[in-house]
Amino acid sequence: MSRPVPSSFKPAEFREWHTPSSGLFFLAKRSLFSGRTPFQKVDVIETESFGRVLLLDGLVQTTEKDEFFYHEMLVHPAMVCHPAPEEVLIIGGGDGGTLKEVLRYPIKRAVMVEIDGEVIQVCKRYFPWLKPALRDKRVELRIADGNHFIQESNRKFDIVFVDSSDPVGPSTVLHQRSFFLRLKEHLKRGGVVAAQAGSPLYHFSSLRKKRLFLRKMFRFVLFYLAPVPTYPGCMWSFLFLSDRVNPLPKKIKKNPPVGLRYYNQEIHRAAFALPPFLK
Ligand code: SAM
Repeated sequence: MSRPVPSSFKPAEFREWHTPSSGLFFLAKRSLFSGRTPFQKVDVIETESFGRVLLLDGLVQTTEKDEFFYHEMLVHPAMVCHPAPEEVLIIGGGDGGTLKEVLRYPIKRAVMVEIDGEVIQVCKRYFPWLKPALRDKRVELRIADGNHFIQESNRKFDIVFVDSSDPVGPSTVLHQRSFFLRLKEHLKRGGVVAAQAGSPLYHFSSLRKKRLFLRKMFRFVLFYLAPVPTYPGCMWSFLFLSDRVNPLPKKIKKNPPVGLRYYNQEIHRAAFALPPFLK
């Protein structure tokens, strides 16, 4: 892997193309890291408006400024609705934002299975939350393909978070039917899966396809939404899957941890309300 970019690096424009004629750009104050791993190209840039930004293969994964929208909304709906989560599995999530949110709860164990150990090393260095999270005694880090892990392991979990990149390269399989079928076998009774599901605007047909096969696997298959300013289309979707846990009970019994910046019980209910184009 290459070394951090020298300080002589000139500010540059980073563009992420969302369609052939539109996208998002950042003017980087400086590039903190640029390298290639066996799996992907990794960049960390520093920007005025979003702080540090992690890009994998040129696609924004997380930014210091808006990470909380995504990570809080991936994690808290499932953690709050499950009556007593003790063992949690995170597939992907190398930037550590999901792990940071999971560790706010009194769980016994969080297993994170990330395919690319170099993403972990880079994020430990440039994003403030990963290093302390990895020091937590409850955390077990596995550098492995999440799909292989679930093929080979027979461990069961209360909640599984699928914090994958979009369906390109090694994460393609994490969006497929066979993966979810196998994943279900790793759920304890009353278990929940929460997964990022893409942009309702740009990935509409993939959302529809997923819903069709997931409805045959789980009793509760609900999409929910949150804004993520730096993701394509700004509106992002997530999936809540369970046979027993209803994400919209009459009364949400647990309060979320204090100190969150986006998620609360009102946001929880609002997030599951879908606009007509998605219904
Ligand atoms: N939420 C972010 C997004 O949609 O942009 C994803 C964040 S996280 C950085 C995604 C992680 O999934 C990456 O670190 C990538 O290396 C990891 N990943 C991709 N395919 C994987 C696989 N098959 N098994 C485990 N981790 C995988």
